[in-house]
Amino acid sequence: MKTVDKFARIGEENAFAVLARASVLAAQGMDVINLGIGQPDFPTPPHIVEAAVKALRDGHHGYTAANGIAELREAVSADLHRRFQEEISPDNVLIVPGGKVTMFTAILMFGEPGVEIMYPDPGFPIYRSMIEFTGATPVPVPIREEKGFGVSAEETLSLITSKTRLLILNSPANPCGGVTPKAEIDLLIAGLAAHPEVAIMSDEIYDQMLYDGEKHVTLLSYPEIRDRLILLNGWSKTYAMTGWRMGYSVWPDDLYDKARKLAVNAWSCVNTPSQYAAIAALTGPQDAVAEMLAAFDRRRRVVVDLANAMPGVSCVVPKGAFYAFPNIKDTGWQAKPLASKLLEQTGVATIAGPDFGILGEGYIRISYANSEENIRRALGRMHEFLNAGQ
Ligand code: PLP
Repeated sequence: MKTVDKFARIGEENAFAVLARASVLAAQGMDVINLGIGQPDFPTPPHIVEAAVKALRDGHHGYTAANGIAELREAVSADLHRRFQEEISPDNVLIVPGGKVTMFTAILMFGEPGVEIMYPDPGFPIYRSMIEFTGATPVPVPIREEKGFGVSAEETLSLITSKTRLLILNSPANPCGGVTPKAEIDLLIAGLAAHPEVAIMSDEIYDQMLYDGEKHVTLLSYPEIRDRLILLNGWSKTYAMTGWRMGYSVWPDDLYDKARKLAVNAWSCVNTPSQYAAIAALTGPQDAVAEMLAAFDRRRRVVVDLANAMPGVSCVVPKGAFYAFPNIKDTGWQAKPLASKLLEQTGVATIAGPDFGILGEGYIRISYANSEENIRRALGRMHEFLNAGQ
């Protein structure tokens, strides 16, 4: 069948292909440890599950407003105020089926042939995939180990041209675990004053996953860009709700209705019981969030220590999210063959750096959303594999 040419350019998320392969190997009897997929290994807290069950029992099984039920949009607004003391009207909040949907919507809104969209490299692979799908030119913003895997304001600003329509930022970041320091964000926002036509999409889905007492700096706290800022956030990572498909975005007045119309055209509304669960997540006890973070923090240290002890490997301490991005350049391996051999021969699933962009060569991503015991076993196997020099 003849379909539109754009499909020659759409990409994928290799973490799902690795997950599928890992499942096949496990079904064949291999003891597979998955450090590939980025999802918390904890169950969704019980009070959130109960809220969804109750919603169904109470008869909340029909459509809702396309932008989400008012009570949930109000809960998002209250949560942003509680955490950042920012006033966000519930009328600017759009409930969407997963964090990914905000990037899909924003990139569709700005991408077309002839324009440029900037995105982090290494970065979440769907940014580039969707940019290419729209026909826009993807402009990678380098994320460098020397900068602690944070964004460089100077380098980012230097890449803006008269064709730039959208700048995608992500901190704390996937896949490197970097957090862009406030001083760097201040510089970037100051520099963006000279480019008022550039919209900004800030992917803050890991905003509650910072370590060492660091506080998240949300781009919502810069009033000078509020009229062109799209915030991406959601429940997947913070509340261990990846399969519930719950996300939200904050849109400026000017763009909100366009985003809402895309919602009406594509998904009508988000799964109703999930929306009630999401209210419980934001308004209920937050202990589980802190407990998960404490566990990720312990595992983070284990991963960094064990990775740094491997021959030819060096690993900076990630400051956020639940990913480490060890440098494997001195092992003599290219990232893709290494990740593939590790899975096929040792049963350890990781993701090769180039799956996150050209600048990911020389790195592999380790997700430490797995038990400490599994992390120790997996990294032990990796160490042995590299020692054997296979
Ligand atoms: N943004 C980043 C940086 C991510 O790492 C992910 C998921 O891995 C998402 C967005 C998408 O989240 P969701 O599963 O809610 O669509």
